[in-house]
Amino acid sequence: MSEHPRSGEKILRGIAVSGGVCRGKIVVLGKVRDTIPRREVSEADVPQEIQRFEHALLQTRRQVLEVKRKVNEAMGAKDASIFDAHLLVLEDPTLIDEVTRLIQEQRVNAEHAFRHVAEKYAATLSSMDDEYLRERAADLRDVTARVLDILLGRTDETALHKLKESCIIISEDLSPSTTALLDKKMVLGFATDVGSKTSHTAIMARSLEIPAVVGLHDASKQLTTGQYVLLDGFNGLLVINPTDQTLFEYGQLVRKRVNLQEKLHDLRDEPAITLDGARITLSANIEQAADAEHVRACGAEGVGLFRTEYLYLNRETLPTEEEQYQAYRQVAAALKPNPVVIRTLDLGGDKFISHLWMPQELNPFLGWRAIRFCLQERALFRAQLRAILRAAVEGNIKMMYPMISGLDELNQANALVEECRRELRTERIPFGEALETGAMIEIPSAVLTADSLAKRVKFLSIGTNDLIQYSLAVDRLNEKIAHLYEPTHPAIVRLIKATVEAARRNGIWVGVCGEMAGDPALVPLLLGLDVDELSAAFSVVPQVKFLIRRLKLSEARQLADFALNCESGSEILARSQALARRIAPGLFENQD
Ligand code: PEP
Ligand code: MG
Repeated sequence: MSEHPRSGEKILRGIAVSGGVCRGKIVVLGKVRDTIPRREVSEADVPQEIQRFEHALLQTRRQVLEVKRKVNEAMGAKDASIFDAHLLVLEDPTLIDEVTRLIQEQRVNAEHAFRHVAEKYAATLSSMDDEYLRERAADLRDVTARVLDILLGRTDETALHKLKESCIIISEDLSPSTTALLDKKMVLGFATDVGSKTSHTAIMARSLEIPAVVGLHDASKQLTTGQYVLLDGFNGLLVINPTDQTLFEYGQLVRKRVNLQEKLHDLRDEPAITLDGARITLSANIEQAADAEHVRACGAEGVGLFRTEYLYLNRETLPTEEEQYQAYRQVAAALKPNPVVIRTLDLGGDKFISHLWMPQELNPFLGWRAIRFCLQERALFRAQLRAILRAAVEGNIKMMYPMISGLDELNQANALVEECRRELRTERIPFGEALETGAMIEIPSAVLTADSLAKRVKFLSIGTNDLIQYSLAVDRLNEKIAHLYEPTHPAIVRLIKATVEAARRNGIWVGVCGEMAGDPALVPLLLGLDVDELSAAFSVVPQVKFLIRRLKLSEARQLADFALNCESGSEILARSQALARRIAPGLFENQD
């Protein structure tokens, strides 16, 4: 694949987060930018510019009325009335007159004039002593963003649900909850300015099997809706105006990938066993109950991580115990007798629910997240625990807690589970008496206290996505420091090993369910470090199995010995990659 642009095409490079290639027209989603272009307009074009402005006000009005109607339906008239302030801005004669005058007198484009005037008003409001007036500044900025999006031809996120033809989405960012709602029939792929491989947006893209590239810096500013692009989710490239030759080469690449998929598919019912006979448990990560159908299809033996947050997102009310019970039961029954490890709620970080008050935090990944949140929001947590306990009657369910930092949290969570068991017993509601619980190891303090944890659980599951971010102090979402996010950092290798040793000492099993487990180049290292289970996105499970079946555990152990004594993360990575590429070259063809 040519890495260099051919005449007429332009290549933007980002981070590959979800494999696949797609091509089509783009839709650029809007967000107010700091820089709005200033354009001179000729005298003859002034009336047209004013008309554009008036048209944008009208369209915005329609949009706001629609949002108001929906909020009214879902949350009632009181909440909907906040949009009245937005509507008033759109009709404010002083503001409209001033913008019109600016366009006429300075002969500038409408977006520049509007932005200038609206920002002046917003700044004045923000500086008022009166709290009510200060809040109006936020309303004004909100409406300004909508008007500017329309003037600049950017699409609102809500428009994602009204796409009329298939397209590739370009956006500054996409939240995990918005990504979860993407309609695969309409959204061929997406690319964002920010983000990284282990953001939940990226994880969701892999789960939906939508090609995605993130970390493209300012792609959403450079591109405009309607441009034709090719998106290469294997190598993290966005090719604008691809030439026929580029399209041809990518056609060949896609054919090769299809052939590879077919070959991998043949291994579906084969065990994940190394050449020298070591049997590994290979599980899949799922984000929603409907994903259960992919688990068998990809050749996994069960679910090693069911991220339950998505049951709570994109809705107006919390899911009831009954609703959760039905979802967990459905997965357990579909995969019986294989295990399904349900992870209790991990909200916060980059996943929020709008209808439950969660304060804006300066450091949400260090804040009110996961088990910390659940241990304070006990009613909500209990509903989930009861649902999991009840669903365990239907199949082989296990449960694990995210973000355990030490024994206190584990004890509190276990005590709450015990209370729920007692309650269910008293209520004569059947539940899985033998349900096993485990702890995720995602924080260095959990590694250092792993012996204490291991004595009180039946398994440990290493969440490398967070373990890496918390150990190396590298925000897993920040593309600017993505190069510092190093799964093969010597410290990470040692932390994994220490966790495995603690599990061994206490006679329990240990898995890895972070994205490392789904990276074929790192699988030999993890197996060499002696983990019992790998749980990966179901889209990559076939590749991981292929690789395991071509690996000798003895070689993996040599690699791990090297890594445990090595001082350089890049050397460890190079060795792991060399081994993986040697035994399974087909998996790495046409990749950087
Ligand atoms: C992890 O941190 O590795 C993990 C599996 O949890 P999540 O990615 O959902 O934070
Ligand atoms: Mg995590």
